[in-house]
Amino acid sequence: MLGESRTLNRKAYNREYRARNRERLSQYRRAYAKAHPNKVKCWRHNYYIRHRDEIREQTRLIDWPARRQKIKRDVLEHYSNSRPVACVRCGIEDIRVLSVDHVDGNGAAHRKKLKTRGGTAFYAWLRRHNYPPGFQVLCMNHQWIKRVENHECNHQAPRNAPSATSSERRTRRRA
Ligand SMILES: [Zn+2]
Repeated sequence: MLGESRTLNRKAYNREYRARNRERLSQYRRAYAKAHPNKVKCWRHNYYIRHRDEIREQTRLIDWPARRQKIKRDVLEHYSNSRPVACVRCGIEDIRVLSVDHVDGNGAAHRKKLKTRGGTAFYAWLRRHNYPPGFQVLCMNHQWIKRVENHECNHQAPRNAPSATSSERRTRRRA
């Protein structure tokens, strides 16, 4: 049996070992999680079940609006390349109308791949993945203008599709 001091030494040694090999260990963990997704899901669920009350309490204590603001600000600041946070086209600086735009214009497809609807989940993804290139800051007006310019309005019916007749539209309105 280990004496108390040896246990402490071991703890200190382990802590130091983890600190020294942080990158390697986290790579290993990531590879393991990728290879065994169901196992990880199961562990995570068991952990949640065991610590449900603590987790709920911690979640309740988080200032969510502030956290969302912080994530958004971090991401906008990054994609502004150390200039003030502003729309690249018109320079408006009001963070409430600014968002991150996919330069190539396939934002919807990208979000679908990430299974997020955009907003904070998308910003968090960008931050977590070390801000991949190909994004810029635009205001909502210029997001729309860009979509119209690039014919990206996916809610628009294809040009040769039959348009709804006025009676069809009336039925739809009543429904
Ligand atoms: Zn703008």
